[in-house]
Amino acid sequence: MPAHILVAGGGIGGLATALALSRQGHRADVFEQAEAFGEIGAGVQLGPNATRRLQQLGLGTGLAAIAARPDALVVRSAESGAELARMPLADAMQQRYGAPYFCVHRADLHGLLLAAVRARGNGTLVTAARIHQVETSDDLVCLSSTDARAWEGEAIVGADGLWSLVRRQLDTPSAAEPPRVTGHTAWRAMVAQASLPAALRRQQVDVWLGPRLHAVAYPVRGGEWLNVVVIAESAPAGDARDWDQGSSIAALKQAMGRSCIGLQALLDAMPDWRAWSLGDRAPITCAADMAHERVALVGDAAHPMVPYLAQGAGMAIEDAVALADALGGGDAAAVPAAFARYAEARWARNAQVQARARRNGEIFHATGPMRWGRDVAMRLLGRRLLDQPWLYGG
Ligand SMILES: Cc1cc2nc3c(=O)[nH]c(=O)nc-3n(C[C@H](O)[C@H](O)[C@H](O)COP(=O)(O)OP(=O)(O)OC[C@H]3O[C@@H](n4cnc5c(N)ncnc54)[C@H](O)[C@@H]3O)c2cc1C
Repeated sequence: MPAHILVAGGGIGGLATALALSRQGHRADVFEQAEAFGEIGAGVQLGPNATRRLQQLGLGTGLAAIAARPDALVVRSAESGAELARMPLADAMQQRYGAPYFCVHRADLHGLLLAAVRARGNGTLVTAARIHQVETSDDLVCLSSTDARAWEGEAIVGADGLWSLVRRQLDTPSAAEPPRVTGHTAWRAMVAQASLPAALRRQQVDVWLGPRLHAVAYPVRGGEWLNVVVIAESAPAGDARDWDQGSSIAALKQAMGRSCIGLQALLDAMPDWRAWSLGDRAPITCAADMAHERVALVGDAAHPMVPYLAQGAGMAIEDAVALADALGGGDAAAVPAAFARYAEARWARNAQVQARARRNGEIFHATGPMRWGRDVAMRLLGRRLLDQPWLYGG
């Protein structure tokens, strides 16, 4: 008999988990606090490790239809604009890793997952359900929401992001600790490429590295839209829990300081900048950081990371597939052992990605001699430094 699993949080991780579980025949009910399912207006890069999993979930064709397939990754100095390193992406990634490197609009990816979950019809999707209490017994779990509704199931997956409430159910000393507010701020903007001057349009991932900041621009939506993100080590933009705030180009430029003409022109051309305060946690240290008995965590709920490796959503998708694989066709009685196997299989990779994301931040934002050494290494090693076989092949 299939298991009945409650998934708290309907972001990319929660929906990928519901889809993966329902493909194994389980009932997965998703509880999302927002009034409607949706994602923010920003882009997300998906390495071959993530696109391969989405293909396994039956989304290969749909994903290719919504994605942009960038030609290359090009790294430049934010101050001079000079090219430091380049790595081909499109055919090269497909040939090397057997899956594409894609850039997508989050709302498009989220919509693809939502449609697939709905099409399977193997569970209910509940919105306006802000989970505030989780109770577990030997064979049941119970969720209740702030508006006094309650639901029962045989297991719970916490996919409730950075400020996860479900993670308090873990049996670890840090389960109830809040995440770290990094003090780094991300500014994001998107626009239809057709509305930009031809010189600013692009079909590649461009990264500019500056002291204590970096910027990334890449195409989404079949290459028709452009996503730009700038991350600077400036004071957090307001309350760290209040993610999505309107901001201005003036505030962004003040945080950035000096940058090259090409980057300035691109930033000036982008409308509607929004700012996010970034949070993370120290890399997880053991399997108990991801599951306990009938409770498992996926994505940012378990291992939130700074976005300097562009892999947070990728790890959430990997988690989702691994969790469903661990449970397979097992019934409710098999859940605790399956969740333990899942956590054992996933924790070390997630910890490695969290640690590398932090390290990348130090390298991207380097100043002084470290910055000089980084630029020399990038010029000499180029592609060999940018490629990540341990990550993309995993
Ligand atoms: C600037 C920036 C750039 C990034 N770029 C990339 C990238 O290029 N590639 C990549 O792979 N990753 C990237 N990431 C990381 C990625 O966005 C996250 O890792 C990913 O979205 C995590 O998905 P999730 O489903 O685990 O959590 P979330 O996306 O946070 O989803 C959690 C969901 O749970 C809901 N929720 C929360 N609490 C409750 C509750 N109590 N009850 C009910 N529902 C609740 C929320 O409303 C939300 O819908 C980036 C992040 C940032 C900030």
